[in-house]
Amino acid sequence: MTPRRPCLAIDGPVGSGKSTVARLVAHRLGFTYVDSGAMYRALAWAARARGIGPADPERVSQLLNSVDLRLEPQPDGVNRVMVSGRDITQEIRSPEIGQLASEFSEMPAVREWMVALQQDMARDGGVVMEGRDIQTVVLPDAEIKIFLTASAEERARRRWIELRERGFEADCDEVLAEIQARDHRDSNRAHSPLRPADDAVHLDTGGMDIEQVVQRVLEIAGERNLRP
Ligand code: C5P
Repeated sequence: MTPRRPCLAIDGPVGSGKSTVARLVAHRLGFTYVDSGAMYRALAWAARARGIGPADPERVSQLLNSVDLRLEPQPDGVNRVMVSGRDITQEIRSPEIGQLASEFSEMPAVREWMVALQQDMARDGGVVMEGRDIQTVVLPDAEIKIFLTASAEERARRRWIELRERGFEADCDEVLAEIQARDHRDSNRAHSPLRPADDAVHLDTGGMDIEQVVQRVLEIAGERNLRP
């Protein structure tokens, strides 16, 4: 029997570089990249499309029972995000959906539903999954756990550049305020707050470019003999 391939869990706050790093690391290892934040965004998108807000737990629960949400990892590593057969990969990237995703993600029923789906996606191993609670809740047995950080100012700067590249108008101070609000909500929520696992490797990405962070993560994988 072929041994199960390892899992890498990469967590960190918005703008820490985790999405790009996780996608590139997965590509180099030949693993599947799973963007768990995209799943929360997709759910927020689906809720908004049906006029359901986070203050309506009953309708959110109906939504969870009926929504067809899929993450389709593409060969180039990008995750195509589908809701009921519609490709919403680009639409979910707006700051508005990010904010809404953060609000829905506070609901225990939403988190339980997501965790089950994400664990299923990692069942056969060979996955690099990134998010907020991957190393603590979704994949606590992941062979490698990385916690990425950077100052709020540095993360706001990166996020501002990213938003502009995606064609969204953004004001620097507003982006910083949005990041601080999301940090606060993600780190202080009662259910699965953003925090590193006890055995996580901490990486401060301030002053590092993406390639340096990717190399460091691959080194950590190599040191633990976890190359496929
Ligand atoms: O990573 P991204 O910014 O796309 O995630 C959107 C929101 O989804 C986050 O602000 C966070 O509130 C929520 N999230 C979460 N747990 C995850 C991934 C994302 O609560 N594993």
